[in-house]
Amino acid sequence: MSTRGGRKKDRKTALLHAGREYCEHGFVNPPVQRGSTVLAPALADYESGRMPYTYGVHGTPTSRALEAAIARLEGGHGCRLAPSGLAAITAVLLAFTKGGDHILLSDSLYGPTSRAALRVLGRFGVETEFFDPRATADDLDALMRENTSLLFLESPGSHTMEVQDVPALAAVAKKHGVVTVIDNTWSAGWFFDAFAAGCDISIQAATKYHVGHSDVLIGAVTYTREMEDAFLDTYRDLGLCASSDDAWLTLRGMRTLEVRLTRHQENALKVAAWLKARPEVEEVHYPALPGAPGHELWKRDFTGASGLFSFALKPVSEKALADFVDNLELFGIGASWGGYESLILRSHIRENRRVTKWPHEGPTLRLHIGLEDAGDLIADLDAGFERLAAAGA
Ligand SMILES: *Cc1c(COP(=O)(O)O)cnc(C)c1O
Repeated sequence: MSTRGGRKKDRKTALLHAGREYCEHGFVNPPVQRGSTVLAPALADYESGRMPYTYGVHGTPTSRALEAAIARLEGGHGCRLAPSGLAAITAVLLAFTKGGDHILLSDSLYGPTSRAALRVLGRFGVETEFFDPRATADDLDALMRENTSLLFLESPGSHTMEVQDVPALAAVAKKHGVVTVIDNTWSAGWFFDAFAAGCDISIQAATKYHVGHSDVLIGAVTYTREMEDAFLDTYRDLGLCASSDDAWLTLRGMRTLEVRLTRHQENALKVAAWLKARPEVEEVHYPALPGAPGHELWKRDFTGASGLFSFALKPVSEKALADFVDNLELFGIGASWGGYESLILRSHIRENRRVTKWPHEGPTLRLHIGLEDAGDLIADLDAGFERLAAAGA
């Protein structure tokens, strides 16, 4: 992480060229290789297990190029693609658990991750326990059991933005022989070095910033050398893959990842600082903002911030909230994030917390700050606050 500074230029360059070895005939981008059957020159080749491609589900030049690029970006040993971020997550949950295990999940996780653990793994006798995302090493150590097999982190949480002490938590897991998994989507793998922090697996909902244009669903699992065999066994058994068309679009998006993230961050900082000064706002949860919750840990472990954050309004009526949100011109109401455009959603945190209490009485709104002009975004929110005031709190 702290070594990242000196490597920065190299990473920017690598991002543009990673995966080029899968291109042909001098083209700078790989082909969109659609296919199931791959013909072998002879029976002996087919049966040798040494052909680079054997069947579409096991990889194409297009998917390999994207996997190589993501593995390079994350600093992992290898990477495999899944048809969505959630499919990448469930593959990892299934790969590193068995009946009778106990697993530890941060209370700040993406909701469907927690539900998959409870419902899918629960049916096979895996016990899921949630812990406070701000847990210290000692707190986590006290939760470790003989049968604990997996620790699942997400930092910051994609609604509540708690920054986790990942190096400290991963070190505790390592001591207990527990696999540490992180959903690293918020940082896009660009602003947070999961492997340097001691994680064994880093998951991307590449649907978000890698794709960057809200037009593809895709997930990626990047792993260390030690995790490779265990993960690939389950990955193959589940029959997971991503289409070459989607892999190609994702690689295309990734070439501009750093440029886009820079603007997302710049815009988000302006909007977050402006919101913080508003009397209607109780708290802005954007770790990159000085004074925001988690800012010190973020500064220690991250090299930047993406465009996703949330803020808590002081209590308002449902009507005032609807007047504020419904009539925004530039912020669309919708799920997902990481595209070029700005979005807004209400986060239902109080109802979904299991072991921690969200302190805010008023609604929490999550913003994705897109690539629009920051002044235009602020003017849009400003008009929203005027409507909110007119509705009467
Ligand atoms: C969106 C998201 C996912 C799931 O990705 P999909 O491609 O939509 O399945 C996982 N984790 C986080 C943090 C997300 O925001």
